[in-house]
Amino acid sequence: MNILERYHAMEYGPAPEARNEADAWLTSRDFSASLFIGGQWKKAASGKTFDTAEPATSKHLASLAEAGHDDIDAAVAAARKALPKWQAASGYERARVLYAIGRAMQRHARLFAVLESLDNGKPIRESRDIDVPLAVRHFIHHAGWAQSLGKEFPGHAAVGVAGQIIPWNFPLLMLAWKIAPALAAGCTVVLKPAEFTPLTAVLFAEICEKAGVPKGVVNIVHGGPEAGAAIVNHPDIDKIAFTGSSEVGKIIRKATAGSGKKLSLELGGKSAFIVFEDADLDSAVEGLVDGIWFNQGQVCCAGSRLLVQEGVADAFLAKVRTRMEKLRLGDPLDKNTDIGPLVDRTQLERVRGLVAEGEKQGAQCWQPAGEVPATGWYHLPVLATNVAPANILAQEEVFGPVLATMTFRNTEEAIELANNTRYGLAASVWSENVNLALHVAPQLKAGVVWINGTNMFDAACGFGGYRESGFGREGGREGMVEYLALPKAKSQQIKAYEAPGGTSERSDGDGSFIDRTPKLFIGGKQTRPDGNYSMAVHDAKGRHAGEVGLGSRKDIRDAVSAARAAKGWAGATAYNRAQVLYFLAENLTIRADEFAARIASLTGASAKAARAEVDASIERLFEAAGMADKFEGTVHNPPARAVTLALNEPVGVVGIVAPDEQPLLGLVAMLAPALAMGNSVVAVPSARWPLIATDLYQVLETSDIPPGAVNIVTGRTGELAGVLAKHDDVDGLWLVADAAICKAAELESTCNLKRVWTSNGQTVDWNGEAGSLKPFLRRAVEVKNVWVPYGD
Ligand code: NAD
Repeated sequence: MNILERYHAMEYGPAPEARNEADAWLTSRDFSASLFIGGQWKKAASGKTFDTAEPATSKHLASLAEAGHDDIDAAVAAARKALPKWQAASGYERARVLYAIGRAMQRHARLFAVLESLDNGKPIRESRDIDVPLAVRHFIHHAGWAQSLGKEFPGHAAVGVAGQIIPWNFPLLMLAWKIAPALAAGCTVVLKPAEFTPLTAVLFAEICEKAGVPKGVVNIVHGGPEAGAAIVNHPDIDKIAFTGSSEVGKIIRKATAGSGKKLSLELGGKSAFIVFEDADLDSAVEGLVDGIWFNQGQVCCAGSRLLVQEGVADAFLAKVRTRMEKLRLGDPLDKNTDIGPLVDRTQLERVRGLVAEGEKQGAQCWQPAGEVPATGWYHLPVLATNVAPANILAQEEVFGPVLATMTFRNTEEAIELANNTRYGLAASVWSENVNLALHVAPQLKAGVVWINGTNMFDAACGFGGYRESGFGREGGREGMVEYLALPKAKSQQIKAYEAPGGTSERSDGDGSFIDRTPKLFIGGKQTRPDGNYSMAVHDAKGRHAGEVGLGSRKDIRDAVSAARAAKGWAGATAYNRAQVLYFLAENLTIRADEFAARIASLTGASAKAARAEVDASIERLFEAAGMADKFEGTVHNPPARAVTLALNEPVGVVGIVAPDEQPLLGLVAMLAPALAMGNSVVAVPSARWPLIATDLYQVLETSDIPPGAVNIVTGRTGELAGVLAKHDDVDGLWLVADAAICKAAELESTCNLKRVWTSNGQTVDWNGEAGSLKPFLRRAVEVKNVWVPYGD
């Protein structure tokens, strides 16, 4: 045998990480008292416990206290009690605590890593080199946000008590993503780890004790869906942050509807891994191994759909198969292991079931030769070819080591296939042509895009999804916003208003009313309502003021189609959008007297107040025009050889339900920022004073707004808001309306998890902080982080 032959015949010897410290820790503590509440270790009030086991052997690891309603109540009460002092602490004090947590975690890094691998089954290389260092980095990064809060987020304060629920795939990292920004903002937390992987959270609570976290600031409770639901439904929680499946995310969206709780959802994904024919194929293969087989594919942003350009598909798949043969499956504590077991038998069965169904639907599933260990929940990696776009393996999140492969012919087809999913978490683009990669990245509906790379994360770079992958971001500036709120402004409850149908008698008014029936404004045209019904409008004294079209479901659908088709607006340069908005402001100025008179005569406002409303509307249009090319993204410098471009992208089609109070300013204050950021809008104006909005479209018509960028459908607020909420092609919905309408919109928005903002049944002070331009500019964009590595 020559040297080369010997080299190829060499076997890996075992290289196990020592587990004695972890075992000693496991046997040293009483897990029946593992609820960390108000700085004390407690048993469950019911005395119940649940088991956690080692996925590699299915051996029992610990029996932990299972929290019930009483325990959740106690944890929330402890968090509430600790809130004022923690909020009042200086940023510097909070920063020191966050830094101390990070340093203490670093000192116990190996114990964290071994425990994580024991409890979750992930290879030690991953927990040691990725999960734990990233979790530490999160705390240290957020120490800086804590200290600079007042300067970086002027006027903002902690949102309050945060309820946080996390999944089992990155137990410690997800905990860090939740707790670090919350503490930096001045929130106190009640966090529930997933029932399969509670151990590193117990160790983390011990760290909190040692790092000087004041009692009650961090509370950790254990249990399954019931404990999670008790947190979600608790009336004394101000913010829910959830990471987990889209299915449970939707349940939580419904459960919190109308409660006024701030909500962020980090959900599932079906991310595309796109390989163009000019890619460095060997690098792409290595990227793919990381993209789909990292953590056994139990990764929300796993590159589980390989899209490869036809010309290189055979060569690339051959390389993938060769590489798959070399993947080492086995003991997660062995430093040579690439693939460990899945987290639990239920997960293994789910993956097997999906693979079988995928095969039934025509996919060909290939696995490398090899045995799985006799114990534990192992699954060999799978390469599925002949996968039709509708195949279950191409559409459903498998959350296992299964790669679905499809081919594409050209760039347009790649983008179309990549976006053919209800999810929108991440994507990888592989090409040696950076122009092509940066042309594709903005067209992908995904919150994170990695160019010639995958699974790059950093505390400074926001992470989160589009569409059914959820809303909100974790990490960076945008992640901090999720835990902050503006002080409550004075507001009034909005009373329900039932717009009269049919006709009403024209009264002997003062002659200033227009007796005509303005139409709807759809796709740049004045359009009769589909049902051909009208709605009477009365002035403040109850006199007949005119009639407007009574819009219906069909009209909203037409308006949404027109808005979706207005692609030119999103694609226009920010400078171009600014000029159009300036022109709109100019044209409104010319008609300012007329609008002021109309507002006064309809709403009964004084002439002075009406004029002030028109002036404020013009000023807001000017301000939005000015910010169109300034509310920009940023470039992050993560600790890697990469830059991250944080791009502010338009949300898409935004529904706006405008209030009766200050009907012009209320509409303009939402319309202007939405347009400035490149969204197209379907607006439902005040049902009481819709004539103001129908007057406005005459101004729109003369202001170079492209057809479909703004659509106005008059009619009954509740009915039209409901249609917008249920519409799958509406991406965002903003409502200032009565409490019942706001709640219904949140409830009905789960179809595509659109981004809903409501005033919670309260009026908005458009001249105050909460009604100002900036919060609406933030709502008008999704931040997409595009990672661009550099260097040879
Ligand atoms: P899951 O939704 O079943 O459970 C997540 C958490 O929610 C667990 O703690 C669970 O106990 C709790 N829970 C379950 N039902 C609940 C209910 N009705 N009310 C409140 N809480 C409830 O998800 P999982 O199986 O633990 O995790 C896998 C999912 O997490 C995947 O879909 C994955 O994509 C997603 N995930 C997303 C991200 C992200 O950042 N987007 C990160 C990691 C994982």
